[in-house]
Amino acid sequence: MRQSNGKPRFGRFRLYASGNPANQVYLCAMAKTTIRNIRTLSLAELETWFEELGEKKFRAKQVYEWLWLKQAQSFDAMTNLSKELRQRLSATFTLPALTVDATQYSADGTVKSRFKTHDGHLVEGVLIPTEERKTACVSSQIGCSLSCRFCATGYIDRKRNLDFDEIYDEVVLINQQSERIYDQKLTNIVFMGMGEPLLNYKNVMKAIERITSPDGLGMSPRRITVSTAGVAKQIRQLGDDKSKIQTRAVTTCRQ
Ligand code: SF4
Repeated sequence: MRQSNGKPRFGRFRLYASGNPANQVYLCAMAKTTIRNIRTLSLAELETWFEELGEKKFRAKQVYEWLWLKQAQSFDAMTNLSKELRQRLSATFTLPALTVDATQYSADGTVKSRFKTHDGHLVEGVLIPTEERKTACVSSQIGCSLSCRFCATGYIDRKRNLDFDEIYDEVVLINQQSERIYDQKLTNIVFMGMGEPLLNYKNVMKAIERITSPDGLGMSPRRITVSTAGVAKQIRQLGDDKSKIQTRAVTTCRQ
């Protein structure tokens, strides 16, 4: 069943894949030549890359720290690497960081930000301050494939999932706002922005792993809430994975 806006009701999904074999061959060829996002590499993969380059292994740790601990937004920012090495990295990898496109400051202290992705999409994140807490409300998808009646995002078609590093960037940028405006780091994160987080399960879980890792933002998993409209299969998956990812993400119903 479809709603008047043409979107499938909650629980239905749209298929975008083309069955045209010619397109698939073309896309395969494209994939082979695509430069890889450096933040998709593990530390071990980075070490291998540096070793194959004839560089010392510790360079990988330096770069990894720039990417996650120091939240560098460009290779140029990695100032303890030689210029040649930074150029080599830049020629080999991409570093598609999220940027702040616009910010609104409310009288109650709430700060609403519009973030821009490397491919020009816009998503929203909000800093919600109280006496005790500084909470980031983050998005997990660009648009949404569900249509909860009360929600404005439900009227925006889902363009794509946010990648885990883009979700990480949302938290980093809102944390910077919190430190700048309230002189306090974020205390909490809620996945209640654009999108249904459990329909972007892998990226949300990977982002939480990076957010809670000591070599990432080092935040407590107890302070992260994943809010869902109710995707039963993924709620079960969340329960199964909880111990593996050592998070205590909570689900609440928004439908
Ligand atoms: S409440 Fe969440 S899941 Fe429902 S339409 Fe809005 S963004 Fe999508």
